[in-house]
Amino acid sequence: MQLIDGKTVSLAVKTAVKDAIAQEGIEPCLAVILVGNDPASRVYVNNKKKACAFCGIRSLEYTLPQETTQDELLALIDRLNKDESVNGILCQLPVPPQISEKAVIDKINPKKDVDCFHNENVGRLWTGNDRLKPCTPAGMMALLDYYNIDPAGKRCVIVGRSNIVGKPMAALMLSRNATVTVCHSKTQDLAAVCKEADILVAAVGRPKFITADMVKDGAVVLDVGINRLPDGSLCGDVDFDAVKEKASYLTPVPGGCGPMTIAVLMQNTLTAYRIQNGMTK
Ligand code: NDP
Repeated sequence: MQLIDGKTVSLAVKTAVKDAIAQEGIEPCLAVILVGNDPASRVYVNNKKKACAFCGIRSLEYTLPQETTQDELLALIDRLNKDESVNGILCQLPVPPQISEKAVIDKINPKKDVDCFHNENVGRLWTGNDRLKPCTPAGMMALLDYYNIDPAGKRCVIVGRSNIVGKPMAALMLSRNATVTVCHSKTQDLAAVCKEADILVAAVGRPKFITADMVKDGAVVLDVGINRLPDGSLCGDVDFDAVKEKASYLTPVPGGCGPMTIAVLMQNTLTAYRIQNGMTK
C-alpha cells in the first residue's frame, strides 16, 4: 500500500501559487470572516492566514462576536463585495444559529466565492464551466493527479452527499470520466456498493466507518473524515489499520485530504484575482 502524502502535495500546490504570484508581481487579497469563538474554526482560520502569508496573498481577518445578527454579517459581506481590493471572501462555517448559512452563501459575490459554495459556481461546476473549484474535492483530485491515478473509466463510490464534499466530488469525478455512485444514510447494502469501488471516497463524519470488508483489493481509498476521539486524537472515516492491508493507495488522517483544502483555497484566491482583473474568462 502506498500512503498518499497530502502534506507534500499541498506544499507543491501552494508553492506553484506562490511562484505564479511572484512572477506576475501581483498581490491577491483574501478576506476571512469568523463569527463567534468555535475553537476548531479558530484553528482553521489561523491555518488559512498562514497559507496566505506563505503564498504572498494579503489576508484580512474579520472576527465578529457570537451574537452578531444576520443583517450585520450581510452588511460586512456587502462591503467586501464592493471593495475592489478584496478578491476572495470566505465566511468560516458553521455560523451561529441566528444566521442562515444559505443567506451568507447567497450574499457573496460569485466572483469572490473562493469556497465555491454559491449556486452560480455550483451550476458552473455541474455544467463543466467551473473556474473556482470546490476546495476539498478539488484537493482530492489533485492528490490523484500527483500519484498518476487516472479516474477515467474507473468505478468511483462516494459515501456522503453533502454540498461541501460528496456532491461536488461526484461532479469532479464525472468530469474526469469516472463512473460515479453517491451513497448516503438511506443507501441499502452499503458494504456491497463500496466493495465495487476502484476509488472509494469516505466523507461521512463517523470514525472508522469504512471497514476492510467494504473495500475491494487494490482500491484507492480517500478518507475525508476528521473526527476527534475522546482521547483528543484525530481519526478518519476509514479504519486505517485494517484497510491499509487491502488498499493500493490510502490517505492518512491527519496529513491526507485535510491539507489539500487550504491549498486549493489559495489557488482559488489567485483565480479570483485573475477573474476580477480580466485575466481569465
Ligand atoms: P455531513 O455531515 O454534511 O455529511 C455526511 C454525509 O454522510 C451525509 O450525506 C450522510 O447521509 C452520510 N452518512 C451519515 N451516516 C451514514 C451512514 N450510516 N451510511 C451512509 N452514509 C451516511 O459531513 P461533511 O460532508 O461536511 O463532512 C464529512 C466529513 O469530512 C466530516 O468528518 C468532516 O469533518 C470532514 N471534512 C473534512 C474536510 C477537510 O478535510 N478539509 C472538509 C470538510 C469536511 P445523509 O445525507 O443521508 O444524511
